[in-house]
Amino acid sequence: MAEVKSTCCYCGVGCGVIIETAESNGKIEVTGVRGDPDHPANFGRLCSKGSTLHLTANPSLQMQARLGSPAIRKARGEDPVDISWPEAIQTVAQKFADIIQEHGSESVGIYVSGQLLTEDYYIFNKLMKGLIGSNNIDTNSRLCMSSAVAGYKQTLGMDAPPCCYEDIDSASTIFITGSNTAFAHPILYRRLEDARKNNPDLKVIVVDPRKTDTAKEADLYLQIQPGTDVALYHGMLYIMLWEKWINESYINSYTADFDALRDLVRDFTPKAVSQICGINEKDLFQAAQWFATSPATLSMYCQGLNQSASGTAKNAALVNLHLATGQIGKAGAGPFSLTGQPNAMGGREVGGLANLLSAHRDLANPEHRAEVANLWGVDSVPEKPGLSAIPMFEALRTEKLKAIWIVCTNPAQSMPDLNAVHEGLSKAEFVVVQEAYAHTATTLYADVLLPATTWAEKVGTVTNSERRISKVNPAIDPYASAKHDWQIALEIGLALEALLPGNRKEGTSTLFPYAGPEDIWNEHRESTAGRDLDITGLSYKILEERGPQQWPMPVGSDSGKKRLYEDGIFPTKDKKAHFIAAPYKATAESVDARYPFALNTGRLRDQWHGMSRTGTIGTLYGHSPEPCVELSPKDAGRMNLENGDLVHVTSRRGSEIFPIKVSDDIASSQAFIAMHWGSEFISGAAGKTPGRGVNGLTCNMIDPVSGQPELKHSAVKILPANLP
Ligand code: SF4
Repeated sequence: MAEVKSTCCYCGVGCGVIIETAESNGKIEVTGVRGDPDHPANFGRLCSKGSTLHLTANPSLQMQARLGSPAIRKARGEDPVDISWPEAIQTVAQKFADIIQEHGSESVGIYVSGQLLTEDYYIFNKLMKGLIGSNNIDTNSRLCMSSAVAGYKQTLGMDAPPCCYEDIDSASTIFITGSNTAFAHPILYRRLEDARKNNPDLKVIVVDPRKTDTAKEADLYLQIQPGTDVALYHGMLYIMLWEKWINESYINSYTADFDALRDLVRDFTPKAVSQICGINEKDLFQAAQWFATSPATLSMYCQGLNQSASGTAKNAALVNLHLATGQIGKAGAGPFSLTGQPNAMGGREVGGLANLLSAHRDLANPEHRAEVANLWGVDSVPEKPGLSAIPMFEALRTEKLKAIWIVCTNPAQSMPDLNAVHEGLSKAEFVVVQEAYAHTATTLYADVLLPATTWAEKVGTVTNSERRISKVNPAIDPYASAKHDWQIALEIGLALEALLPGNRKEGTSTLFPYAGPEDIWNEHRESTAGRDLDITGLSYKILEERGPQQWPMPVGSDSGKKRLYEDGIFPTKDKKAHFIAAPYKATAESVDARYPFALNTGRLRDQWHGMSRTGTIGTLYGHSPEPCVELSPKDAGRMNLENGDLVHVTSRRGSEIFPIKVSDDIASSQAFIAMHWGSEFISGAAGKTPGRGVNGLTCNMIDPVSGQPELKHSAVKILPANLP
């Protein structure tokens, strides 16, 4: 028996785990997993997903599900044929080089994932922006956190959650908005339950169109109409102004631009807001009072705000409330965006998005581009923003983008408006899929498949929601001939360097001088020197000896910074936080007589994303055994439907068949479908489209600032399927 400390690979809570291993037939195997009692994110606890992690590393399961060898498909629709690693590396590099030489560097793209480690992210970003000379690299985190990034930058000046998990213990009001924390961040929710036990006066307010398990436990639940969050926050500010609950001293000392916001919220009277949001004025008043007058108010929020065509405005409007009341920069207070994926934060830190650069530098800033070019040893970094996630797949459909390299994610299931995405992937001249798992909706389109290692095999770092960097450590050898993601990027990068002229500075022999992930991480660390996320005081050795650390942690510091802005100084030009007079806009796609239901999507408690891992564990089906569409008793009754009856759910983009589940949690004229179930579980409307899952229905309209799509709201019609 041996034990290895590592980090859970599912959500952004970033729990520490201890992987238990034993030798069997001369091989080390994972036999169990338990929570790490010393990890400050979870202190030994694990949720249902985390506590079954060892089952995903079980060798017999891997035989069924894992990709074990590089493979090539001679033609789409044919079975892939195994090839050697050198052949696979050379094939990918040569095809990318040929396409770039014929169509230019903008004709290729890389689509990565918030499941990658920071080191993986760093090398892919450098390969695309430094070597290929295009910013066409984006990530599935675009579907997850980009509105939170934009909201923080607009208001506070940098992309950084200012809070920490300890703030849950010391808050006196917790405002949960657009987050089913009990399901999506279960260990944080356990912490909140503890806080309630320790402080019976703690008030919990929950805002959500759906009466989730989180909402059911709230002291005050505001069941708003979908997409009306900005109106709600402006309405709360109206009351705070009227009742003189705002913190004038904080506003005057530490913020700017309040007057424009004060003018804007004049229209958001309690009466107007109660009508827009569908809530009563008394509850609105109560929420404003608890938020503003509590000694310490902490907001916790997630995809309900982010996955919206107004996601940036929603984030900014919520931060406005914290600035107006001075509920920030002190224990138990602040706007705390909960990260969805395990390393969406790390991806942002290394600038692995189409509009960002290393260490939170901006692509639009010429000084920042020059700093990165200098660090990487290239003449320049391209100025033009790359294609973000939704435009990237649209560019495949319009054949402007010829080749795509998809890493550790399943866009043929997770992107909105999937029929268009599948059309794009079918039209692509060259698709590379780098994956741990053999059978996903996306691997069907791969011209070349590259087998990657996964949890329990990888080494590197991740950053969780509270800016805490943790080590990920390997407990077992890579499966079959799988390689690490950074290693595959390195080998293809080196092969591409030999084929492309590139823009390396004289004296730079290679852009990829790495013997291992620590070398990559050290280069990332040096890129943060003097930046807001400075981690020059941190090393692999410190992480291993002293455990996970929060950033910033500049050289000379003993530990990372728990909480930001306690001094009231913000990383903006004038050192002040800025209010944003965010306009309230209705949802991008309105319900109407033809499509009268507002379709919401979200997570189940026991499944993760597209179920590549959790879907292989039988016990995790106990909570929600099959896909369904949840409807209110009123709507089900009106259509004479009962639990299990089949319906067509149809949007302007597709039609899918689901059994219904009648639920008191859903308001009338609304519907909910979990995001996890893909084509293998769901039928399309007979004779029309293949089943895609809920994203065959969702709309791909995006927030103009963050580029995040409105996955949380689509207009649909629901009709009995009347199948024999
Ligand atoms: Fe893993 Fe998140 Fe569960 Fe923690 S809360 S065990 S990080 S899935």
